[in-house]
Amino acid sequence: MILTRQDIERIEKRGYKGFYKKSGGFYRLVNINGRCIFLGEDGKCTIYNDKPLGCGVYPLIYNEEKGVIIDDYCPLSREIDCLELIRGISELRSVLKELENTYNYRVDWRLFEKSSIKLIERCFKK
Ligand code: SF4
Repeated sequence: MILTRQDIERIEKRGYKGFYKKSGGFYRLVNINGRCIFLGEDGKCTIYNDKPLGCGVYPLIYNEEKGVIIDDYCPLSREIDCLELIRGISELRSVLKELENTYNYRVDWRLFEKSSIKLIERCFKK
């Protein structure tokens, strides 16, 4: 999971260190044995109230080629209703703006809007 500056500051305030590393130009959460460092033994997030912004919008993700998509890898990906989808897209927009503020990274906003509309239309046709 990519982290914004706010994410890092918020989690550090809880006393955590060494939970992120730089990879591919972004700071990302560390995984241990393929699992997020904050995933508890009970399968729950141990920093739920302070989790990274990107975690809050998952399984919605932004793909640089496809735009906004629902990650099929998530077991709940087919259970998102249209209102959740619209709310998620709005939150994802905020996350991406925050990523632009944190990194030398620019979102293709035309692709973002086009793919968002396509997702919403598909949802209401179901
Ligand atoms: S929700 Fe929590 S456990 Fe899941 S990826 Fe985010 S920080 Fe890790």
